[in-house]
Order: sequence, then C-alpha cells, then structure tokens
Amino acid sequence: MTSVGRKKKVDIVKDTDFVSKNLLSHPLENIEDVEEFYAAINRHHLTHAITKDRPYTYWTIELYDKKNGIRGGGGLGVLAADTRRVAEQSNVPFVLITPFYPSEQHQHYERTADGFNNYTTHEPVEYQKYGYQLLDSVNIHCNNTLVKLDVIEKVLGSTRILCITEPGFGELYSGDSGGDHRLYQEVALGFGGYQALKLAGLKPAIMQLNEVATFFAALARLDELAKNGMDFYEAVVYTRKHTLYTNHTLVQAAEAEFSYEQFKHYVFPNLKSLAVKQWLKDKFENGRIKLSSVTIEIAELRSGVSKLHARVANYRDLAGNKVKFKAVTNGIDIPTWTSKEVVKYLTDKGIIDKFFLPTEDYLEKIETIDAKDIIKLKKQGRKELNKVLAKRPNQYGKYIEIPENALLFDFKRRFVDYKRPWLAFSEPERLKTILKEHNAYYILSGRVHEGDHKMAEKLQNILNLVDSDPELKRRVFYLPDYDEELGRALSIGSNISINNPVVGLEACGTSWMKDIINLGLLISTHDGGVADAAADSYLNIHGNTEQEEINSLYLRMEEGAAAWQHEFDLEYLIKLELSAFLPIISGTRMLKDYLDYLF
Ligand SMILES: *Cc1c(COP(=O)(O)O)cnc(C)c1O
Repeated sequence: MTSVGRKKKVDIVKDTDFVSKNLLSHPLENIEDVEEFYAAINRHHLTHAITKDRPYTYWTIELYDKKNGIRGGGGLGVLAADTRRVAEQSNVPFVLITPFYPSEQHQHYERTADGFNNYTTHEPVEYQKYGYQLLDSVNIHCNNTLVKLDVIEKVLGSTRILCITEPGFGELYSGDSGGDHRLYQEVALGFGGYQALKLAGLKPAIMQLNEVATFFAALARLDELAKNGMDFYEAVVYTRKHTLYTNHTLVQAAEAEFSYEQFKHYVFPNLKSLAVKQWLKDKFENGRIKLSSVTIEIAELRSGVSKLHARVANYRDLAGNKVKFKAVTNGIDIPTWTSKEVVKYLTDKGIIDKFFLPTEDYLEKIETIDAKDIIKLKKQGRKELNKVLAKRPNQYGKYIEIPENALLFDFKRRFVDYKRPWLAFSEPERLKTILKEHNAYYILSGRVHEGDHKMAEKLQNILNLVDSDPELKRRVFYLPDYDEELGRALSIGSNISINNPVVGLEACGTSWMKDIINLGLLISTHDGGVADAAADSYLNIHGNTEQEEINSLYLRMEEGAAAWQHEFDLEYLIKLELSAFLPIISGTRMLKDYLDYLF
C-alpha cells in the first residue's frame, strides 16, 4: 500500500467515524440502538429537521426493487432502492415517491437457424401482490382530460414507498425521451406524487430529485406555496432551499427537450399560480425547454454521484454560469448485495459495524484477513451463484454450472456503448488463451435497450464469435434479462469482475462495489466512483488509445487469474481494495453525506 493511498483513506475515516465509535457488536433492533444513532447524528446537527410527519422525500422515476414489485432499468433505480433500505436500517423518516408501472419488459434469446433471435415480452404487474395499500386517488390535467391516478403505499419501518399508478401508465422509459408519454409520466409523478404526499398527511422536510425527470415535484411545491399566498419570490427561495437536485449525467447537451406546445397540454393546466406559470413560460428558449435548466433554477442544493463526476459534469444555468455540484459518491446497501457469510466475516473481524459502516480501526482489522478465508468464502459464493444459474437460461436456452474449482470472470451491466461490453472480445485468441490456461469461464450479462440497434448488433457479433469457436463456446456464456438477482449472484460467486467504461463517461457505477465487498478482484478503468480512490488500489486498465487499453485489460486478466492461484498475491490485492473502497462502498456513509450536506 502506498503512503499516499493510505493518507487519503484516513481522511475518509474521519468523515464516517461518528457513528462507528462505541457502536459495535449488537444489531440495530432495539430502541436504545435507534436513540444512540440519533444521538450520534444530532451531535452533528443532522436530523433536527426530519420527523415522521416531515420526512426526507426522495423522488425518482425509476426504482429497482423487485421485492417491492418494481423493476428498474439500471443504476439509477438500484441507487434509489439502496438509499431507502439504508434509511430504513438507520431509522430515518424517509418517503420514496415513484410510479408503479403496471407492465414490465423481459428480454429473451433463442438460437435459430439464422443466428440468435432476440425478443422482448411485456408482462403485467399487480401492486396488490406486493403488499401495497390503496390510499385514494388524485387527479391531474393532461391533454384536456382529467386523469385519475391511484395512490398506493407500502410502509417499511421508518420509510415508505408511495406510488401513483393507473392502468394506462405504461412501462418505465417507454416512448421517446422527449415524447408526450414520457412527459405525461413525469408530470404524473410530480403533480400526482405531490398530492399523494398530502393525502398521506406528510410535508417534505427536503425534496431530493433523483435526476430531472422528477422536476415537476418541486414545481408542484412552488405552485402550492405561491397559490397559498406566499410572495412568489419567497416561495422560490423557500423551494430552492429545500430541494436537492442529484445529477447522474455528464453532458447537458445530450438531454431531451420538450416544446412549449407539449407544456401547454401537459404542464400548465396543472399550475394554479399565475406567477409560477409566467415564471415557467419565461424559461423557454426558442419554444423549447430542457428540464435540467429549470431544475437548476428551483434547486439550490445540487449533487453529483462521484468525485470525478461532480467535477466534470458540464452544466450551465440559464444565465450561462457553470453549475457546481457537491460530490456525494453513491454507495450500496451492503446487506442486500453481499453474501451473508461475507457480512458475518467482515463483522466478526471488526471491519464493519452494525450500521455497515467501516469501524474506526478498519484499516488495521483488514490486515487480519486471510487468503484461505477469501478462498473458502468465494467457494460458498460459487454455490450460491450456481443455484441462481440453475434457473437462468443462457443464450442457447440451456442451464450452466460453473465448476467449484474453476476461475470465473464476469461483465455484468447494461449494454450501452460507453461501457464497452465487447472489449474483452477484441482479440479472441488472447481471450481464449487466458481462459484455457487458467481453467477460467467468462459470463456476460446485460440488457440492450429496446431500439438500440447498434448495441444489439454488437452483442450478436459476440454471440456469433463464441458460437463459432468450440473453446470459447465451452467457456463463455451470455445470460439474458440481466436483473438484481443475477447482479447479486455474480458478485458473490465470481472471482474477477471487469468494468471498462470509456474514461470520463461513467458517472459512478455501483456494480463494481458489489464485487469488491464480496471479496472479488476488480479490473477497471479509472472512471466514475472507482476514481474516488487511487489507481493503484485495484487492477487498473490504462492506456492512451483503445488498443493500449485492450492490451492492459488482457494483462490485468492474466494478473488477476494468477493471483487466485497465489495466496500471498490474492490476500494483498483484496486488502488493498477493501482499504481503499470500504468507506466509499458503504451506503450508510452515502446517506450520512447527504444528511451532512442538507442540514
Ligand atoms: C448494481 C446494478 C446496476 C448498477 O449498474 P452500474 O452499471 O454499475 O451502474 C444495474 N442493474 C442491476 C440489475 C444491478 O444489480
């Protein structure tokens, strides 16, 4: 470990040690624990403004929480689900407002005479099956009609999921991003969700907007304040002070726009205050509007999702000034994504506490990790992975099993261009040699967005390449319909995971966090949240050209594979990763960072 890396780590510890002090050893179940947690937080003046009736409110168009009936698309939804789970464990009053989509997509592959056939099915989802209660309904105005939205809720400890829904609501991200249906969904979440909050008897202490699709929630609040007689400028100031805009995107230019005409049909009819309507009308430029520009106007608090992302996100306000974002790096809910055995191991060793935060002396405790334990835990993880693989068909519709003693590489994330899922297939002979020499397997999993023909074709090419070579066919598998179950199982049961986004394009990413916490080796480019730590704390891919990066990737694969056969190297690398990333990974640390920023 370099001294520079170590110094940095100590700085992070200072940041998180307020709750970990004295709080080891028993689970957060009884009331004393809860009081202890609050006492710790209150010493730092964090939650005085949050109460049961005035909760932290979190607005998101996407939630990835299938246990509670809602399937997301990727990282944005996983983050929302993890944030709520962490709030529940920490007993923070927290309400997540999101649509309940009455239909969801599933992706399938089949081998036909002329290649791999990819098709999507649409399946109905009923909220009644997931323990939601119907509260009542609210109305919004869209396209000259009154749309009735059902308000449903599910209480989970100190938190709840509050949803608006109706049979015609459609699927997540259906239609064009600047299209009428998308605007309808966003308006329904904002104006409908704000009324839903009232219906549940709640006032928001803070509104966190998880990306700009939730802008209308803050607009609904501004409208309510102004309509109820608050001076318009005071209402703007008040709304701004209580709204946090969390940005996950890098370039504003890439964002879809809406037209004045669309707002005339979907947005203005829902506004009661003439002053607010006029304010919004003035924000159009050449008859078009980008939601980020108005979200920036309505939210004084703004955050990005990793240090690098907060620094490079290129956004300007309407006056043309560059927008500053506070870095709050994403974390994950450790118990959700980590095998029970590993959680117990890290807890018993005194590396994490009962809030899943690194302990005060986690750096010293990490030194007591033993390679034999890592190998044993990974074997248990492999069994758990194989149980999941037994019910998840591969691209041929067949079920695979990865031998207990074999090495497993994985690439699991949405198939979008910048994440480069094809990178390891750039030189098939080299890949084949690595896999063969180390008795290794490679699992790819990730969904192509419907309509992304370019990526669908790239995936076809990989599948055809694998199909044409007996050795690759024996060792490389694609698992369709990537979801939370596969994400978790692969993190638990794989030895080496690969994360190779084009540097500068990943906002944070959280899949790699799941891999590190489960004692796997990470091969990654220095991007997103990975770049929060030093580049020598993991198996770093570097290079000035893509060809150099490909070279570097193969070298790292060889290095990682060799480490799993040499206890000393494995132990060294795992300790290095955990020391650098544990505070970053902890979702409790993330929530605490948000609370610190907000109050
Ligand atoms: C963890 C997870 C993600 C996050 O993906 P990143 O590409 O790392 O942001 C997305 N989808 C699923 C199903 C996950 O489990």
